[in-house]
Amino acid sequence: MRVIEREEVARRLTYEMCIPLIRQAMIAFSRGETRQHLRSIIPLAQGHMFGIMPGALGESAPFGAKLISVYPENFAKGRQSHQGVVVLFEPDTGEPVCIVHAGEVTAIRTAAASAVATAALARPNARRLTILGYGEQAATHARALLKVRAIQSARVWGRTPERADAFCRRMSLELGVPFSRAAEVEEGVSDADIICTVTGAREPILKGAWVRPGTHVNLVGSSVAGPAEVDTDLVAKSRFIVDSREGVLRQGAEFLIAKQAGVIDDEHIAAEIGQVLAGDIVGRRSDADITVYKSLGHVVQDLASAWALYRDGRD
Ligand code: NDP
Repeated sequence: MRVIEREEVARRLTYEMCIPLIRQAMIAFSRGETRQHLRSIIPLAQGHMFGIMPGALGESAPFGAKLISVYPENFAKGRQSHQGVVVLFEPDTGEPVCIVHAGEVTAIRTAAASAVATAALARPNARRLTILGYGEQAATHARALLKVRAIQSARVWGRTPERADAFCRRMSLELGVPFSRAAEVEEGVSDADIICTVTGAREPILKGAWVRPGTHVNLVGSSVAGPAEVDTDLVAKSRFIVDSREGVLRQGAEFLIAKQAGVIDDEHIAAEIGQVLAGDIVGRRSDADITVYKSLGHVVQDLASAWALYRDGRD
């Protein structure tokens, strides 16, 4: 059985490769062509989680599962907070053929999914990016979003100013675009065209009142019912697009909190991103819309990325 380690994933799973893969996978998912179970999560001690995500890219297509642990405090220790494996099965024989480093696939495919959503939903002339968070997803989102919009400057907010400054220095150098720290979230998002929330925040850090018309928001940090990164006002006033309708109805914290407050109902989910990409439902309707892409992350994104690495690298 082939094993594709972290370094190989990082080297070969470029955004040029991953973005189109995710686009196709999300269209296939929303058309009902893929097969999957909703992610199940086993809660462990100290807020740790073990996630199990099984799926198939089609009826006669590669299938498998992502098995992933989430240890949020790993970030402070310089380790990935998401670690695990994607196991791939070959559709003709049913044979397991490959194991891929899931931490690195997750880091890249999640940002690629936000890039796909941003390409579809952000205003074409979006130039200013704001990232809330400075962890692994913050870095991959910066890299991925620069592939789909001509970003001229980026603001970064996080709880520790020194870490935010270090992140800004690193990304400015790597990407050739000025990154600067915002002292407060409100100030950081005040003139943003695109906002990415990629934190482990448990209570809202971003308020609808601070987001100006026309902004696109990638809402990424919470993938379980519970922690919420943005308030109900932002959910209610936005055109709310999701990766998976079923997933968000069960596990989309910000959506569920707004629904519980009686402010929105299930109809507030305007579309799945796959429906927008297929041209079945309009995403952004005007330059004034605030669009939100709620990302929970999906196994078809993992399988499509991992299978392409396996297939293209086979002797
Ligand atoms: P990291 O552990 O690398 O980074 C976490 C970031 O969140 C750091 O900037 C950390 O900074 C910050 N943070 C943690 N707690 C809080 C808080 N209470 N308030 C504000 N900021 C906080 O994680 P990743 O970058 O890999 O992931 C970021 C988030 O995205 C996680 O919550 C993760 O579960 C989620 N995720 C979602 C995916 C999806 O598909 N939707 C896929 C992968 C991850 P500091 O602690 O210094 O403040």
